[in-house]
Amino acid sequence: MGRALGDGAVETTILGAGALGLTLGLRLALQGDHVTIIERADRPGGLAAGFPVGDVTLEKFYHHLFRTDHAIIELLDEIDLGRDLLWRTPDTSVLVGGKPYTLNSATSVLRFAPLPIWDRLRMGAAIGYLRFWPHYQTLEDKNAAVWMRRWMGKEPYAKVWGPQLVGKFGDYADDISMAWMWARLHCRTPQLGYLRGGFQRFYDRMADLIDVLGGSLHFQTSATSIRTQRGKRVRVGTTAGDLVADRVVSTLPTRLTLKLLPTLPTFLRRYDDQPALGAHCLILSLDRQLMERVYWLSVCDPGYPFLAVVEHTNYMPPADYGGRHLVYFGNYLPMDHPLFTQSKEAVLAHYLPAIKRINPAFDLAWVQESWQFAAPYAQPVVTPTFHQHIPPHQLPIPNVYLANMFQVYPQDRGQNYAVDMANWLARQLATE
Ligand SMILES: Cc1cc2nc3c(=O)[nH]c(=O)nc-3n(C[C@H](O)[C@H](O)[C@H](O)COP(=O)(O)OP(=O)(O)OC[C@H]3O[C@@H](n4cnc5c(N)ncnc54)[C@H](O)[C@@H]3O)c2cc1C
Repeated sequence: MGRALGDGAVETTILGAGALGLTLGLRLALQGDHVTIIERADRPGGLAAGFPVGDVTLEKFYHHLFRTDHAIIELLDEIDLGRDLLWRTPDTSVLVGGKPYTLNSATSVLRFAPLPIWDRLRMGAAIGYLRFWPHYQTLEDKNAAVWMRRWMGKEPYAKVWGPQLVGKFGDYADDISMAWMWARLHCRTPQLGYLRGGFQRFYDRMADLIDVLGGSLHFQTSATSIRTQRGKRVRVGTTAGDLVADRVVSTLPTRLTLKLLPTLPTFLRRYDDQPALGAHCLILSLDRQLMERVYWLSVCDPGYPFLAVVEHTNYMPPADYGGRHLVYFGNYLPMDHPLFTQSKEAVLAHYLPAIKRINPAFDLAWVQESWQFAAPYAQPVVTPTFHQHIPPHQLPIPNVYLANMFQVYPQDRGQNYAVDMANWLARQLATE
């Protein structure tokens, strides 16, 4: 791999063609850089990539946007996809005591039958405070489990919030920063956005634009090393040969990026210990609805082997998918969990009794197709000291940069924050 230089343009190599790598690639290409993107997978999109279902694509992991996701909404407009971004307020519920209860607005909190009225008022007041309070910094050293128990009450914590923290973070549930919880309640909206036809369209369009601007994308190619050369150029080893550039930006998770360096500078050692979880989704295509109205079900009852059930076609019409009813069963787990090595048939057999608890009429004969997807380093664990371990974008190695979802804070990672970070970094690099 290589490219003849001569026009004085900066050569930038980007590792990863997810939301971050592609947005950065587009911005730098528009600024006149020669951009080369190295991507391990066979298509762009990273964690938000899709796979074909009928005539469209579906995300391997459930995805939607919030009204507050300004950076990606603007980018979708900019690349002419904004008109296909649909906004709806689907039902988002929690499963408590075997029943789904809507929990996405002030009225739904007041009507939340599993809690006595006093607890509903208290929970509503605490949510109201978090939605109103703009300074997450005052909450970042606080432990979410302790804060929520104290201000929302023991019962709301035990029935609603505690189980969701356990579902999302497992053994780390008691060690999560309140700033992370603040961001969930402060920044999110009940109205959700989805790109009709699948977010893969967005990523394909971005890749095409980079190509038109003279950039090159190499799929099914993994970066294997990063080395600085004399003259401060950077050599990236890949499974398809070496590539030399003026600068390299890695969008890979911090730990994977640090593994590419020949030796780990002492300064970087403290950034090599951020805990993370893997993501797993089993997706069923059914010949009928599983849940009557619910799009998103957070499982708060004990004894279920998944944390969320997302019936995508209770949000987007089944007609978009050839009449299929598409349901995700999602999990975040330690990366050595046995679920990651099981066949989808074994996972479905394991999930079957729990699916029947959600809809007792459910029968395996409803299942027309199934898929399962897994990704390592998919969920950073945002502990109260997380912010002290966020690495700088400019590594202490000349012309090597890092920009990834482990630097998104205090919001939970998301496509919007990847786009926002890439926009910011492109502006910074332009001034150098
Ligand atoms: C279960 C789940 C649900 C989610 N739900 C939502 C949602 O509803 N809304 C939302 O906006 N966001 C959601 N997200 C988050 C969103 O997917 C991510 O924040 C976003 O896609 C991150 O983009 P990125 O470019 O930073 O990273 P990634 O998408 O991880 O991109 C990194 C890329 O690097 C590639 N790579 C890795 N190693 C190498 C290597 N050695 N060489 C070359 N390439 C390599 C990977 O294949 C990948 O394509 C969800 C994520 C998960 C896991």
